[in-house]
Amino acid sequence: MSAAPSRRRVSVFGATGSIGSNTIDLLERQGGAETYEVVALSGAGNVALLAEQAIKLRARIAVTALPECYAPLKELLAGSGVEVAAGAQALLDAAAEPVDWTMSGIVGVAGLAPTLVSAGHGGVLALANKESLVAAGDLLLERCQVYGTKLLPTDSEHSAIFQSLQGQDLAEVERIILTASGGPFRTWSREEMARVTPQLARAHPNWNMGERISIDSSTMFNKALELIEAKHLFGVSADRIEVIIHPQSIVHAIVGFFDGAMLAHMGPPDMRGAIGFALNWPKRRDLPVARLDLAALGRLDFEAPDLARFPALAIAQGVLEDGGLSGAVFNAAKEQALDLFLAGKIGFLAMADLVEVTMERLAGHSKYGHTSYVLDDVTEIDAETRRFARQLSGQ
Ligand code: NAD
Ligand code: MG
Repeated sequence: MSAAPSRRRVSVFGATGSIGSNTIDLLERQGGAETYEVVALSGAGNVALLAEQAIKLRARIAVTALPECYAPLKELLAGSGVEVAAGAQALLDAAAEPVDWTMSGIVGVAGLAPTLVSAGHGGVLALANKESLVAAGDLLLERCQVYGTKLLPTDSEHSAIFQSLQGQDLAEVERIILTASGGPFRTWSREEMARVTPQLARAHPNWNMGERISIDSSTMFNKALELIEAKHLFGVSADRIEVIIHPQSIVHAIVGFFDGAMLAHMGPPDMRGAIGFALNWPKRRDLPVARLDLAALGRLDFEAPDLARFPALAIAQGVLEDGGLSGAVFNAAKEQALDLFLAGKIGFLAMADLVEVTMERLAGHSKYGHTSYVLDDVTEIDAETRRFARQLSGQ
């Protein structure tokens, strides 16, 4: 008698979020528990959705990052056979369970520690949590290398670059161009932008995403993070990575080669394209994304970014040049500024000002430019950055 074929073991961190829900959708469409052995799913406050996902996919473990959510999650999963856990250590323990494929879809630097643990399995690490690369790119890449883990970018632009580089020689790449929609305030004056509220900033014109990345797109801090992400992923120097505004979000990235040729990646603005690519890599499978009708689209526009209205891009240039833990400082300052904006403590334009001044101050930190560091160093400089930014804003 032959043994049943073994199912691919997968875990999804941040399963209840925008990236996570899209990942769960694809897992289900590709056979769910018949095809995959779902090891761990994680969420935070949305325990009802987490429990529903865990039951549907017959997950072994459901973990909420919030200790106070243990009891409600336990109740929802009573009798289901799903193991329930809560808190930061439980998240790390779940990440330590061996798997063949992981989605890193937690938002913010909170995703770094579990991502580092997941990088220890070999197999595939699908990385949506760009903050891990921005804050600790050297550490994460080293860990992937040591454990033979394949890091697959699951940000649309970086997946597009990765796909455009298939069969190409990185040494022949002249430039990498990330596209950016320009967000909801692309054509607004600085005076108009000064009055932007969190509610306005949440409404992305093309993509349906979590709240924080949507607001980061409206300031272009998201694209700033992506420049640093691209540097780590593809090992290109600061002067070879560019940003171009492309309001339709159809071309996701362009790779330019030494002979002047450029390969562009096109697709609908649907994250299931990039997630599905990472899930099925190295093969391609039919995905439930819309097919582009170029004649109906009619035109694709491109324009240069305006650094005066979107200073995040200029600040990121400094981080690309400084390297090391400057990325951790940048990300922490940005996350703190966003928290203050969401709490109504600072205005929309003040976010970039706060990040800029915080970066200048932290540049004097003894570990700022270090490229060889451990997680504790990242945590320390992250906390110090947030403290300084709060102090500076009078909070
Ligand atoms: P989201 O807010 O929709 O979901 C975040 C997930 O993380 C949820 O499952 C939430 O429960 C969990 N979470 C939140 N705080 C946590 C904490 N402190 N500890 C543990 N878990 C926590 O976010 P999202 O839009 O899905 O983004 C997730 C990541 O993917 C981000 O790094 C984002 O930049 C990146 N990304 C998202 C998109 C997108 O289309 N949404 C595109 C590209 C990249
Ligand atoms: Mg992106």
